[in-house]
Amino acid sequence: MTAAQQTIHVGGEWRAALSGATREIIDPVDATPFEVVAEGGVADTDDAVAAARAAFDFGAWPRTPAAERAALLRRVAVLLERDRERIGALESRDAGKTLHEGRVDVDCVRDAFRYFADLVENEDGGGRAVDAGSDEIRSVVVHEPVGVCALITPWNYPLLQASWKIAPALAAGNTFVIKPSEITPLTTVVLVELLLEAGLPLGAANIVTGPGDTVGARLAEHPQVDLVSFTGGLVSGTKVARSAADSVKKVALELGGKNPNVVFADACSTPEGFDTAVDQALNAAFIHSGQVCSAGSRLIIEEPLRDRFVAELSRRAELIRLGRGTDAGVECGPLVSAAQLARTEAYVASALAEGAALRAGGGRPAGPGYFFRPTVLDRCHRGMRVVREEVFGPVLTVETFRTEEEAVALANDTEYGLAGAVWTSDEHRARRVAGLLRHGTVWINDFHPYLPQAEWGGFGKSGIGRELGPGGFAEYREAKHIYQNLAPRPVRWFAGTTAKG
Ligand code: NAD
Repeated sequence: MTAAQQTIHVGGEWRAALSGATREIIDPVDATPFEVVAEGGVADTDDAVAAARAAFDFGAWPRTPAAERAALLRRVAVLLERDRERIGALESRDAGKTLHEGRVDVDCVRDAFRYFADLVENEDGGGRAVDAGSDEIRSVVVHEPVGVCALITPWNYPLLQASWKIAPALAAGNTFVIKPSEITPLTTVVLVELLLEAGLPLGAANIVTGPGDTVGARLAEHPQVDLVSFTGGLVSGTKVARSAADSVKKVALELGGKNPNVVFADACSTPEGFDTAVDQALNAAFIHSGQVCSAGSRLIIEEPLRDRFVAELSRRAELIRLGRGTDAGVECGPLVSAAQLARTEAYVASALAEGAALRAGGGRPAGPGYFFRPTVLDRCHRGMRVVREEVFGPVLTVETFRTEEEAVALANDTEYGLAGAVWTSDEHRARRVAGLLRHGTVWINDFHPYLPQAEWGGFGKSGIGRELGPGGFAEYREAKHIYQNLAPRPVRWFAGTTAKG
């Protein structure tokens, strides 16, 4: 990384916060500080936006041909492969995930850069011709970069979320200012270093490390920012949308989820089917300690299967090995912060007070750090806060249904709509239910995979717009219609004005 505390990059220069303020980055495994970053503020943000503005209005990047932009994105992908171990380990330590997951994240980031390189390179650069009904008119729709993009990212997948924004923004020819989560900013700083190493013109990529209510809020309201792309919680996302409205900038929001995992009994009619559905329900709910926007935190299971399924799921949940993500055999890390731990504890306490039955976990293990044991809460219902609200911790609630209609109604009974899954061996039912679920991603007999080629985003309060896929790329571009009259002549709409005086 750059010199200590110089984690703000503005117009080609790494620097400390103008105020001199710093922030300690905490290792969630033992709650001790292990790094110090600059704590930027409004003045740093204004400088970064000015640099991005100048780089967009006068700089080379927006005027760089698509093939060269694609080539730079590919160079970044190669650098990510070169530094996979270093970056994967840093992500593991910063976000408290296993080393394996950190490495997988780096691979996914690399794939995002490659995907958007392919997308922009394979386009017909000439735009889309429109038939205007006359040989005397040449009409074409072209796509241009939006301008200066403000990119605000969360702490759970810091590098991955940054790449889902940075790669399409750059592929389209934009310049940007990124503000990573103040809790986990380290790998985003490294990614900006790699962009510069790959040859991105100075000023095109800027980063301000700092808090949401100053740096993030300033980016959202800044009149010189053309687009804000935000990934985070519903409360902050709503504030971002409100501030962005005043300056009528484009807004993309990727918010939370309360994602149903619907299991029909027919999916578990064989031992293999049962094992797979239980294993995947475990993974859906507890990977990265449930700190996943698409976590399958609501198990909605056919009533006759409930007891057997929940018993096996709970048995396995108790066996998940918690610890430091780099230690051999560790399967799951801690929560990211003391605040996240306290939030999870409060949700479990409220669920138990409201009548949930605890089948696994329920509290912290002995020892330091922000660990929380994978928790299964049976006998839950929609009246409970823990079922309606996003916990963002290792907490799985169990609800039951008797009919397909009831299953669909329960799965859709959420203000969110990010992702959901249906498990069944009945092909017709699978398609019927998938068609009825009001969620941005629906898995059939699977949970969690995504593809860079496929749009990611949510219905309802899970957000506005999409990331990834052609739709995710479109967020970063403006369509422009160029209408050329090859044989101009007067229209004489105001015919009276040509009468001789
Ligand atoms: P958060 O909303 O607290 O913070 C997200 C980012 O917004 C951070 O960088 C933060 O500093 C910034 N921020 C906070 N207040 C702000 C404000 N007023 N103006 C501008 N920026 C502000 O979210 P988090 O706790 O970091 O992340 C967890 C949330 O992110 C969860 O709700 C999760 O579901 C969501 N998430 C969604 C997706 C998705 O793809 N839909 C992916 C990952 C995480």
